[in-house]
Amino acid sequence: MAEEWGADLFGVADLSPVRQYIEETFGDELLHLDKAVVSAVFFPAGVVNQIREGPTHTYLYYYKALNTRLDDIALRLANRLYREGYHSFPVPASQRVSEDKLAGIFSHRLAASLAGLGWIGKNCALINPEVGPRLRLVTVLTDAPLPPDQPMGDRCGKCTACMEACPPGAIKGVAFRPEDPLEARLDARGCDAYQSKVRVSFGKRVCGRCLAVCPWGEKPKRRGYGGKGRLTGDDGGSENRDSGTEAL
Ligand code: SF4
Ligand code: SF4
Repeated sequence: MAEEWGADLFGVADLSPVRQYIEETFGDELLHLDKAVVSAVFFPAGVVNQIREGPTHTYLYYYKALNTRLDDIALRLANRLYREGYHSFPVPASQRVSEDKLAGIFSHRLAASLAGLGWIGKNCALINPEVGPRLRLVTVLTDAPLPPDQPMGDRCGKCTACMEACPPGAIKGVAFRPEDPLEARLDARGCDAYQSKVRVSFGKRVCGRCLAVCPWGEKPKRRGYGGKGRLTGDDGGSENRDSGTEAL
């Protein structure tokens, strides 16, 4: 369904292993929904390539366009699940509800990594073997008894391209570990402050250099899909694993 509605990838996450983390980070309001259906839409590669040197209005345009499509997918899916007799909750694709944590009501990246769509990279973005971090995500939480996918291991290796490309030095080059706080990997306020500076010169808050330089997104790759149209992990991207280029 998600693919028919415009998703390039989707997967199902079992949230029960991170129940405590979810409660501590996002509260208990949605804890009864123990599965997450995560959909991804890919950025046009040529558009992302342009932001290696600085912000572009085209990137901003597609950032919003992708969010619109993702929210549409999530709404359709949540209502479909409801009609099938299950609780569901569409998490907005792009919404900040906490100025302290610069975060939304739930982590799409966490759900996507548990759903096997990729791993959380040193730039704190979800890195997919097919397109690197050149995608955006949306999540529908549900109690539907869907079969979960398997998480994928970290493949950043020795690469530090995102850290080197970050203008304010906000990326610390530390591999993701679920037990670590965000601050261990990213100075989120430094990133935020840099984007505020960009607004002064460019007119809008935007950056994304750490996305554009990630070697996992540099070259088009042939897709290896399983029976449901999900990514299988047959990535074809290992030649770029430790090369040095960058990404959030
Ligand atoms: S978006 Fe820009 S400032 Fe923020 S972490 Fe990425 S490269 Fe650094
Ligand atoms: S640029 Fe390198 S270190 Fe950063 S997320 Fe991509 S693969 Fe990982």
